[in-house]
Order: sequence, then C-alpha cells, then structure tokens
Amino acid sequence: MSAFIMVNEPLLDGNEKKYLAECIDTGWISSEGPFVGRFEEKFASRIGRKFAVTVCNGSAALDMAVCALGIGHGDEVIMPTFTIISCAAAIVRAGAKPVLVDSDPCTWNMNINQIEDKITPQTKAIMVVHIYGLPVDMEPVLALAEKYGIMVIEDSAEAHGLAYKGQPCGSFGNISTFSFYANKHITTGEGGMVVTDDEKLAERCRSLKNLCFQPQKRFVHEELGWNFRMTNLQAAIGLAQMENLEDHITRKHQIGRRYSELLKDIPGLQLPLAKTGYAENIYWVYGLVLRDDLPLDAADFMARLSEKRIGTRPFFWPMHEQPVFKKMGFFRGESYPVAERIARRGCYLPSGMALTNEQIEVVVSCIKGIVEVM
Ligand SMILES: *Cc1c(COP(=O)(O)O)cnc(C)c1O
Repeated sequence: MSAFIMVNEPLLDGNEKKYLAECIDTGWISSEGPFVGRFEEKFASRIGRKFAVTVCNGSAALDMAVCALGIGHGDEVIMPTFTIISCAAAIVRAGAKPVLVDSDPCTWNMNINQIEDKITPQTKAIMVVHIYGLPVDMEPVLALAEKYGIMVIEDSAEAHGLAYKGQPCGSFGNISTFSFYANKHITTGEGGMVVTDDEKLAERCRSLKNLCFQPQKRFVHEELGWNFRMTNLQAAIGLAQMENLEDHITRKHQIGRRYSELLKDIPGLQLPLAKTGYAENIYWVYGLVLRDDLPLDAADFMARLSEKRIGTRPFFWPMHEQPVFKKMGFFRGESYPVAERIARRGCYLPSGMALTNEQIEVVVSCIKGIVEVM
C-alpha cells in the first residue's frame, strides 16, 4: 500500500541541527539563551518592524496583543467569523466582545465592506486575519481605523513572507502576530511572535510574556502576566528556518501553481486565486471549495481522499457557529452565509513544505477519480 500523504510535513534542512547542537553544547536551553534575540532581530528586520518579541505560540501572541493594547470589559473588536478560535478566544478572555463580519467568497478573507457598519463607540480595534495565503485588502481597513480612531491587530500567523502591495504582512497593525507551528511557512515546532513599531507596546509585551517580573523588585507584581516565553531551542530552529524563508516561499508558490495547473480543468472545484489586485498568493495551504453543483460536501470529499491515504483538513468553522460561544450568549441569531458555505464545502489539500511533485500528482489523480464520476 502506498504511504499516507500527510497534510503538512515540515522541512528542516538548513542549520537547525547545528544550532540545536550549539544549545546543548553550551547548556543554553531556556529562554535566556542567545538564539532568542538573534531570531527576534532577524524576524523584525525581514518584516520591516522595529521590535519583535518571541512567545510560545501564535495563540498566546494574540492573547498578549489584545492585552497589551489595553482591550477589556465593555470593548468591542471587529474580526472575521471565518478564522481560527484563537482570535475570538483572545478577545473573549480579555473580557471584550468579538463583533463579526462575513467572508469574501473569492479570497476567503474578511469582507472589508462589512466593517464600517459594525463600528460603534465601543469599537477598540479591528483584528484582521490573512487567510490561507492571500492578504486582507489593508488600505481600506487602515483608512477606517484612521477615520474612527481605532487600532488594528494583524494576525499574520499564515503570512510569513506574504506581501500586500509590496509591503510585508505583519507590518500593518499597531501590533501584528505570527505563529511558528509546524505547518507554517517557517516553524519552531511550537512558537509565536509579536511585532510592532511602538517601543512602549514592545516593552509591555516583554513584561507580559515574562509574568510581569519587575527589574528592581523581581517577585513583586503590579500586574498579571503569563509565562509565554520561547526557549532557546525553539529560537535556534527558528533562526535556521528564517535563513531559508525565501526558499520556503518559493517552494510553496511552486506547490500552489502546480496544483492549480493540474486541477484547473476539473469541473466543480473553486480553486484559490493566484493573485488579486494587491497581492500574489503564497499558498500557506492549498484550499479548495466544492461548487454547489457537485453532489458531495467537504466532509464526504475528505473521507474519500482519506480512503486513498491522502490527508486533508477541513476549512475553519465560523465563530458564530461555535458551541462554546453560543453557550456564552455570543452571536445569537447571527448568520454569515459565505462563511457558512465555505466551512461546509471547503477543505485543504496536502500543502506542507516537504510535499513532492509526485505526491501532488497522486493527490490530483485521486481527486479526478472522485469528482469525474459524479
Ligand atoms: C496557526 C494560527 C494561529 C495559532 O497559532 P498557534 O501557534 O497554533 O497557537 C493563529 N491564527 C491563525 C490565523 C493561524 O493560522
């Protein structure tokens, strides 16, 4: 039987081993080691930011970003319903209210035309999330933020190296966050980063991630923080991955373009856009949406691919349909038809850094076998 094609396999073929050995040889394995600062510096400079602060994962980065901006009880944050739970969880845990907008049916990013109607005197921030490889159209969002005096949090967890009108994603928000989970463009296994140009905000993040220890009276606390520290081991891998970021982006491009080339004539599939007026897709994952004339939904489609030993992942499940938030009384009676549809008819194909061209061909021929008999 052929080997299972994993939905996401990372590529660790640079200096990872060498740098890790350095950590072990020197005994610097905690967050105090020198790779942490080196990784932060290299990352900040690639994204075009003054400050970068490592954390233990991308969800923690969002928690910290929301907290660092002082968002709390009585505040509202506008965000897409179609995203990962971490975005809404950060807002809810801070005591604030997530206010949702629907998705764009072509880019799957938040529908920016719905933002202005949701702005109230309580709105503190817009949390944009770049989804699956294409950025949110940032200029109109930044204009709204300026017009109404609200902040922007930019979740760039899927957008390392993605450019919007030539400028790196992660450079637009008052604060922007990244994840280095194993399926991202670059990984530290688990890991995250917050970036900003605001020195005060960066300092606040450094304190929040480190239990709000104080420099003078270490164990006397004025505020509650977290231990969100990244280890030197993780940062060592991160630095090695950063050295290969441009190669990783190139490879993801190739994967995306190859899939699109091979899938474009198969009926019933909506493929990701190769580009928009403001960006080129970096295909964090290769998503597709089954058109309505195809008599199966994403769950059936994924089950059939799984029988053929091909790994897939469903699309995000919208925030307004999450049982946990319904129980808390959020989003009662709200409906976002585009997100509801793509959540049910969308999934993504194997798209990891280590995916080979032969594997892409196997995946495509299995899809043909499923779709063309319908
Ligand atoms: C991966 C991801 C996160 C969370 O990152 P973790 O490191 O897994 O906690 C947050 N937001 C988006 C959009 C993501 O894709």
